[in-house]
Amino acid sequence: MSWETVIGLEVHVQLATRTKMFCGCPTSFGDDPNTNVCPVCLGLPGALPVPNRTAIRLALRAALALDFTVHPTSIFARKNYFYPDLPKGYQITQFDRPLATQGRLSFASADGESVVVSITRLHLEEDAGKSIHDRLPGKTAVDCNRAGVPLVEIVTEPVIDSPANARAYLVELKRILQYLEVSDCNMEEGHLRVDANLSVRPAGSSGLGVKQEVKNMNSFATVERALEELRDLQVHTLEQNAAVEQATYGAATSELRVMRSKEATHDYRYFPEPDLPPLVLPADWVDLELATIPELPAAKRDRFVTQYEVSAYDAQVLSATPDLADYFEAVVTARAAAKTAANWVMGAVLRDAKESDGALRVPPERLAELIRLVADRTVSNQAAKQIFRAMTTDGDAPAVIAGRLGVLQVRDDSQLGSWVEAVLAAHPDHVGRFRGGEKKLLGFFMGRVMQESGGKADPKRVNEILREKLAP
Ligand SMILES: [Zn+2]
Repeated sequence: MSWETVIGLEVHVQLATRTKMFCGCPTSFGDDPNTNVCPVCLGLPGALPVPNRTAIRLALRAALALDFTVHPTSIFARKNYFYPDLPKGYQITQFDRPLATQGRLSFASADGESVVVSITRLHLEEDAGKSIHDRLPGKTAVDCNRAGVPLVEIVTEPVIDSPANARAYLVELKRILQYLEVSDCNMEEGHLRVDANLSVRPAGSSGLGVKQEVKNMNSFATVERALEELRDLQVHTLEQNAAVEQATYGAATSELRVMRSKEATHDYRYFPEPDLPPLVLPADWVDLELATIPELPAAKRDRFVTQYEVSAYDAQVLSATPDLADYFEAVVTARAAAKTAANWVMGAVLRDAKESDGALRVPPERLAELIRLVADRTVSNQAAKQIFRAMTTDGDAPAVIAGRLGVLQVRDDSQLGSWVEAVLAAHPDHVGRFRGGEKKLLGFFMGRVMQESGGKADPKRVNEILREKLAP
């Protein structure tokens, strides 16, 4: 029997605010435990929450960019549960009246097919604190610095049909959030955490199988791997004629680990937050935010393909981040040929970025100059790579660096001619064979002349001179 996979994703995104959702405590990461706290985020009696306008604005922008229906009025609610890292004993979130419903996101799957994922809801909430298990021997410590940090939760319908597409959805979602500057999307700091659920069903059937969940993953590779594992486990179980049981897994380590099985339905006793009025978004504010949504990745990719005639794949790489896309366009604007600029950006520039913590160290104007030096044959492609490496730490113009490195191409005919003469004189046998019809030997002569010149001869001109001098 063949099986279909059905996946739903819940993503928690930390919003890029300086302060928390309902108080003025900083959201900075890595500070000493329990230093960024106050009566509000610790839930001390009498303290009252005040919503963070920037957080609401960022959530609104995310909702607009993902084609959501944004609700003019939404309601904050208390989700009550007991856990040591939840100082208030409840989390402020949105429940039956979220900020936005019915969004969607489209992306190209690995095999180039266009996929549209329906998104159920997007709501605002606050984060919990953090339990720390490895700091005090035999004890669990609690750090409340993260308690109250603003999040949006973005929940898809169960409509994603493969672990690879789940990952592709997440990659595109992250890109959009970065373009919007809604979140820093720093995975190591947990800015984007994913809960995934998966079920399988016989191919062609419409009901849903029993779903199992994997919680709290902060790497997309982990999400894909965990979902593949879960899918294979479920298919194996069903093919043994056994029943899949509801279960929740953690995927913090390299393998799935059961956290809870036969999960009891939680009763969170949701009720409207009595300390906060309904969240009302003025229509003109929504309009203003909509009007200032920047060009999003999909639109940028399409534009790159038509405007610069790069492939769909190249467009995807070049627009991976807004910074990279801007960099590429700046190189082209500084008068470099678009396709050559694309190759440089996807090659040398990205390699250098990897080694320098993501920094694009060579200014785009300088790269454009270098590309022009290659185009007018002042330096060879090979030498240009060497010059680029020097430019990552050296602010001089590429022509100056080329001079210093001694890699300016020699195009002077008398110099080129004497190198060619020397090579021909040293290999009379080869000359005879060439004149006798072994035209492939041209490559041999080219190689020798380049060697003779220490790699500095202009290969195009050498080729022409060789053909002249070898003519019978
Ligand atoms: Zn606080």
